[in-house]
Amino acid sequence: MLQVKYACKMPNQPAPLGVRPVRAFTDNYIWLIESPRAPARVVAVDPGDGAPVRAELERSRSSLAAILLTHHHADHIGGVSALLELGAVPVIGPEDSRIPQRTQTVRDGERCELPDLGLSFDILYVPGHTLSHIAFWGHGALFCGDTLFSAGCGRMFEGTPRQMHASLNRLGGVPPDTQVYCGHEYTAANLRFALNVDPKNAAALEYRERVARLRAADVPSLPSRMALELRVNPFLRCDDAAVRAAAEAHAGGPLREPSEVFGVLRAWKDKFH
Ligand SMILES: [Zn+2]
Repeated sequence: MLQVKYACKMPNQPAPLGVRPVRAFTDNYIWLIESPRAPARVVAVDPGDGAPVRAELERSRSSLAAILLTHHHADHIGGVSALLELGAVPVIGPEDSRIPQRTQTVRDGERCELPDLGLSFDILYVPGHTLSHIAFWGHGALFCGDTLFSAGCGRMFEGTPRQMHASLNRLGGVPPDTQVYCGHEYTAANLRFALNVDPKNAAALEYRERVARLRAADVPSLPSRMALELRVNPFLRCDDAAVRAAAEAHAGGPLREPSEVFGVLRAWKDKFH
């Protein structure tokens, strides 16, 4: 399994990636990545709906250059066919027969190269939410679909707690200053659960205030940063004493491994309102 490598800090850091959200359905984000070489050429990540992406392309006078897919769920791939009506572009995603529009398959440890756009992403295989879920990591940004959310994580539809826990730990290993682009605006609800598990977490308390201000102004809470997630996200903190104690109290007995702590937290969150 690929170990996430820490990028060297170069004296002249390249400009951060230009990324903007397109809202879809009630709480999905479709991320549009600008080519560093030609900002009017964009890559769409997880276009669950074609119409809002087409509207944003028109508004910004941009053209679609490629589509990246993290997993097969309809709210992430449902707009691909409508976008391909604009013209054929590479559709890059994991090996999965449930993603029939895919033109290029990427696997764990490979690099997704888009040389004419000046973009390149490492592929991290992160099963748990679904069994073929991948994440795209590069240029100081992580596109993690429905595996990691800010202050939370995706539901385990197809994987086991051990798989999902390992996947989240892997994502947690990217450099702390990585911008984290998740598939949904779930941060406020996730923080309610995080603070129920770990009520004295000062970083989470502060974050809750910031997210409340952003959301009141209808501003996305994303992207997050990995350094923040490592402090506030209970699903990335299964070896933390307070998180473990809360999970053991909820389970009514000792838990031997962090993946067991994760399993208890995930099942607890599924029923938490
Ligand atoms: Zn999903």
